[in-house]
Amino acid sequence: MSGNNYDERAVFNARRKKRRRKIVLRRWFMCFLAVVMVVSLTYCGVMVYGFFNPEIYKSDIISGIYGDGISKKVEKALELTLPDWVDVQLISKHNTARTGMKLKDIKNIVIHYVGNPKTTAQNNRDYFNKLDTSVSSHFVVGLEGEIIQCVPLYERSAASNERNKDTISIEVCHPDETGKFNESTYESVAKLTAWLGNEISLDETDIIRHYDITGKICPKYYVENEDEWENLKNNVKEKLDEY
Ligand SMILES: [Zn+2]
Repeated sequence: MSGNNYDERAVFNARRKKRRRKIVLRRWFMCFLAVVMVVSLTYCGVMVYGFFNPEIYKSDIISGIYGDGISKKVEKALELTLPDWVDVQLISKHNTARTGMKLKDIKNIVIHYVGNPKTTAQNNRDYFNKLDTSVSSHFVVGLEGEIIQCVPLYERSAASNERNKDTISIEVCHPDETGKFNESTYESVAKLTAWLGNEISLDETDIIRHYDITGKICPKYYVENEDEWENLKNNVKEKLDEY
């Protein structure tokens, strides 16, 4: 009888061990499943966010999260002090206009026109700063030649689509629908671009239009008048040579 009891207990213990092992295994499996779910939900979230915020590309968000190092040029931009002719009025971090994500590199300076005749640099800067705005620019050059900085030089602006990650953007005000810059504005655009080029080691061939990235007619007058665009770049070259 006692032998039988012993056998039964042994069988019972073996079953209990097996059951415990099963429970432990199941727990590990659940943990693994939870991790997989969190990772894939985060990934989906990032993709959905990118879809509804086309100004920020998905790759930008991913590299913004995981980071992929910054270039020598961005390191330089981190240490730059802006000249006193630039009015620094950084917009607050919000939405997609200023995400705070660092630039990956600085390969080009992109010229834009605001597309809204007679608006001032201040008007445009204040527009970027609104909570529901998803566009921004590093600088806005106004009708009297005033220059406002809206986004730090080492951060990404939201102006140049897939090139937000490695470009500095300059939005330019204009008096009328043609999009042609007036004299003071033109002078400031050339001065600012040359200053940036000299500091970050870029030359006039690195100055591009929004048009050169996406084909958008921006800056309008300098897309429709190729000669004028070349003149602007030559003007920057002359100023660069003076440094
Ligand atoms: Zn543009």
